[in-house]
Amino acid sequence: MTAALPFAFTPTRAAALARLAAFLPKAGRDYALRRNHDLPGHPHVSGLSPWVRHRIVTEAEVLQAVLGRHSPAAAEKFVQEVLWRTYWKGWLELRPAVWTAYRAGLARALDRVAAEPGLADRWQAACDGATGIEGFDAWAQDLAATGYLHNHARMWFASIWIFTLRLPWELGADLFLRQLLDGDPASNTLSWRWVAGLQTPGKTYRADPDNIARYTGGRFRPRGLAAEAPPLAGPPHPAPRPMPRAQRWDPAAPAGLLVTEDDLSPEFLLAAGLRPAAVAVLSDVAGRSPLAVAAGVRAFTAGALADAAARLAPAAGPAEMLPDWDALPDWASARGLRQVVTPWAPVGPVAARLEAAAPALAARGIALVRVLRGFDARAWPHATRGFFAFREHIPALLASLPAPDLAAVPA
Ligand SMILES: Cc1cc2nc3c(=O)[nH]c(=O)nc-3n(C[C@H](O)[C@H](O)[C@H](O)COP(=O)(O)OP(=O)(O)OC[C@H]3O[C@@H](n4cnc5c(N)ncnc54)[C@H](O)[C@@H]3O)c2cc1C
Repeated sequence: MTAALPFAFTPTRAAALARLAAFLPKAGRDYALRRNHDLPGHPHVSGLSPWVRHRIVTEAEVLQAVLGRHSPAAAEKFVQEVLWRTYWKGWLELRPAVWTAYRAGLARALDRVAAEPGLADRWQAACDGATGIEGFDAWAQDLAATGYLHNHARMWFASIWIFTLRLPWELGADLFLRQLLDGDPASNTLSWRWVAGLQTPGKTYRADPDNIARYTGGRFRPRGLAAEAPPLAGPPHPAPRPMPRAQRWDPAAPAGLLVTEDDLSPEFLLAAGLRPAAVAVLSDVAGRSPLAVAAGVRAFTAGALADAAARLAPAAGPAEMLPDWDALPDWASARGLRQVVTPWAPVGPVAARLEAAAPALAARGIALVRVLRGFDARAWPHATRGFFAFREHIPALLASLPAPDLAAVPA
């Protein structure tokens, strides 16, 4: 039995705000008591992640809305969950080598699929939901059909993938990135690592049939799950690098605004005084995986980019959808720009594209200016250890809302 969604994931800011408004009454006590139940229609969670992942609404906006309705104590659980996303983003931002290592591990796992007899069939069966494991197969099919899974289902799925099916964890993380509408380098990679015992070294997550039965309303009680979940071996965490330096555009030089799928609320730049002479839109959804990304994921992101362009048009003029990243320097030159300004893209495919584009732009005398949001600048530096250490900074983060949303530029 699959768990259909009660709401459509329409890729617009209007739909995100409507979803947020509809969920607000449940963000207090109901969420605290029932968020872990994975029930048909997902009545106890927000379903906001596809929009928040792309910053169609930001974490800060969601927090402000929730705290406008509930006291910090009543909304504590929901606030913490929203800030898990912020924490994971900060953690990976400070350790980009963990993303690079995941991509290298995925390439090795795909080589193994090609070389090891039987592995390709076992992997395919897991992806298709044809393993015969109750629950797991339904979640795989739900994921393909809806682009969404409840958090608890993600945990059980990842645990069964790693410890019962004994498949490489990177292949599971890749399946999620290809199929989740909210597929996110930080939340996904680090959550899979957490289940595997790589993120909190030695601590794994073992899927338990009684727990599954309890939190699925008795729909599933899989048999034959691994009784042990020994942690996978991995290198120690790299030391955190310094926070990225905040950058600011030159108000005297012609600027273009570049919109990507990692921040689809670039209005904060206009509010801070950016007056772009031209606007371009680029994305790298295909870069989430070396394999084909699901059509639903591509459609959601394309729709969300078009919605952002339409919202910007009255203030910033019509946006140009560039065919690919190689077109960026030509576009900027043709428009007579001296700088291309874009919201900071956290570690992942878009950030890698920006990194690669910077020298090509510089060769034409055009600066790439990546603007960090104030909320990220305040939160990410605290993602140096575990979430419990990060949690201590939550009151100060909440006290800074609403706040001017540009990171201060160091003198
Ligand atoms: C193995 C695994 C893989 C995951 N992969 C992704 C991913 O690719 N993209 C992604 O956005 N999330 C991922 N998550 C985190 C989490 O499962 C989803 O963010 C959450 O289920 C989204 O559903 P919701 O919006 O209904 O959540 P709600 O419970 O309503 O939570 C509200 C918001 O808080 C944030 N949030 C909640 N739980 C988490 C969490 N555990 N980690 C980070 N943020 C959280 C999300 O922004 C979410 O929209 C993964 C979790 C696991 C265990």
